[in-house]
Amino acid sequence: MSDKSRPAVFLDRDGTINEQMGYINHLSRFHLLPGVAEAVRLLNDRQVPVVVVTNQSGLARGYFPPELLDEVHEKMAGQLAQKGAHIDGLYICPHHPEAKEEQYRQECCCRKPKTGLLEQAAVEMNLDLKRSFMVGDRWSDLKCAVRAGATPVLVLTGYGRGDLQYIGPQQEIRPAYVADDLLGAARWIIRRMAATG
Ligand SMILES: [Mg+2]
Ligand SMILES: [Zn+2]
Repeated sequence: MSDKSRPAVFLDRDGTINEQMGYINHLSRFHLLPGVAEAVRLLNDRQVPVVVVTNQSGLARGYFPPELLDEVHEKMAGQLAQKGAHIDGLYICPHHPEAKEEQYRQECCCRKPKTGLLEQAAVEMNLDLKRSFMVGDRWSDLKCAVRAGATPVLVLTGYGRGDLQYIGPQQEIRPAYVADDLLGAARWIIRRMAATG
C-alpha cells in the first residue's frame, strides 16, 4: 500500500441508482434511473472509485434469496456497461435485528446509517473517507456520510423529495448539496473535487 488513499463516491442503490420500488424481490422490479449510467461514467472517466453501499434487509426478512440479489447486481452492471460505465465496489448489509433468517439476525455495524460498509470499503480499496462523498435519497444516507466523515449529497429521486420536505426539517444534518438526480450530483462532486484538489 504505497499509494496515498483516494477519495471515492459512495452511492446508495434503491432510489438513487434504480427506481424506488420497495423491495426489489424480482429482477423485473429493477429499473435504472435516467442519467445514472452517464453519472457513473463521468466519475469512471476521472478515475474516481464508485462504490455502492446498500441495506438489503429483504434478505434478513426472507423476502428473496441471495441469488436474486446477485442477479439484480448483474443486471445493474450489464445496463451500466452498455453505456461504458462500471461500479468499482459493492458493499451490502443483509442484516436486520429482527430477521426471520437466523444467519442475518444481528445488531450489525454495517446497516446504514451505521458506517461499517464505508469503513470496510475504505480499508479494502484504500479510500480516504474524509475526502469522499456519499450520495443517497434518504436522510439515513446523509447521516451515514457525516458519521463516516464524508460529504453528504441528497438526490431528489426515490424518497429524496419527501425526505427533504418532511424529515430534513427535524434533523440537524444538512446535505452539502441537493441534486435533482445522480447526474446532477456527479457533476457537482466533480466540480468540488476539481476546486479542492
Ligand atoms: Mg435509497
Ligand atoms: Zn449489517
